[in-house]
Amino acid sequence: MDAEQLIRDVVKNVLEKLLGEKSPAFQAGERPAPGGPGALGTAGSAAGSGSIPVRKDRKIVCGVSVRHIHLCKEDLEILFGKGYELSVLRELYNPGFASKETLTVVGPKLTAIQNVRILGPLRSKTQVELAKTDCIVLGIDAPVRASGDTVGSSSCVLVGPKGAVVLKDGAIRANRHMHLSSVDADYFGIKDNQVVDVRVGGPKGLTFNNVQVRVAPDFKTELHVDTDDGNAADIVNGTMVEIVDASCVSPLSSQMADKSMIPPSIPDGSFTGEAIDPNLIRNICAMATGQPCSKGQDASGNCANSAVTGAGTGTGGGLGTGTGGNSSGGTSFTKKTVITLANLDEFAAGGINVNNNVILSPLAKDEAVIRGIPITYS
Ligand SMILES: [Zn+2]
Repeated sequence: MDAEQLIRDVVKNVLEKLLGEKSPAFQAGERPAPGGPGALGTAGSAAGSGSIPVRKDRKIVCGVSVRHIHLCKEDLEILFGKGYELSVLRELYNPGFASKETLTVVGPKLTAIQNVRILGPLRSKTQVELAKTDCIVLGIDAPVRASGDTVGSSSCVLVGPKGAVVLKDGAIRANRHMHLSSVDADYFGIKDNQVVDVRVGGPKGLTFNNVQVRVAPDFKTELHVDTDDGNAADIVNGTMVEIVDASCVSPLSSQMADKSMIPPSIPDGSFTGEAIDPNLIRNICAMATGQPCSKGQDASGNCANSAVTGAGTGTGGGLGTGTGGNSSGGTSFTKKTVITLANLDEFAAGGINVNNNVILSPLAKDEAVIRGIPITYS
């Protein structure tokens, strides 16, 4: 046998072996992966020897949800005008669409995130979905919730071209969840509302725990994480992840850490609760209308637009220390003083004392330092 014939024989043998291993796996009892890019599971049992174990890859595709807003009809009409309808920018992978319209979200620190996209169709209640980083920018401590579970969640203000809406609650950080088609749920042996773990590969790979499973016939199989989770693991839309069982991973025993040596977290004052600050409400009125707030203001300068605040006007006072007159409103609140470049002169002589009821804008703070106005914190 010459060398050429030997090579032919070897190649033929290898090819036969490869084909012989591959084809029975696809012909064997279990069906191949259900259709769609969301389900690349391969399953099969090797024919013949039975030495290759039955294997179910539980790989699915991941989508990163950027901060977004779901609106109810009533709020849509306040923000965009009576009879307004959202226009479709593009369809989403799962049922729904990204609209062309965006809003500005404002928090109690008067910081804002602009161009937050609205997702359609309309829902029965307005809901704002943020990442933790967004919450820090806005100064709210939004809880981790399943979509739709917004009762008692965080407050913020939405500003649109025709008006503003104060959300008493509705701002959440969406929980990690996956959408599974009913077919894929059966295939993976996973039930609606089950909580699973999902592993991400790669140099920033990690395992996400507490991933809620949501099953519906019209879902396309897809893991949804927010931008903080996505960035932490270097996930982009379309990254493949795998459903795993990480229940064997237990937390580090507390005895192993010398707690007395762990410094406390530094409170940064970012989380200041609900947006009931009358100064904020007044500013939102002005932002929404382009005019100074035209609603009546009481003796202490509070915005008396109780229809907007839902809180009425209450006690107020200079730098939050005194008390002002009560008016017709119901719930009382402490007036917060906002110090900006515009009213910095009022504090030039006496200095600035920043306490829980004083908000000092970053620009005013910089200017105060330049001008040598003393700032104290209490
Ligand atoms: Zn989702």
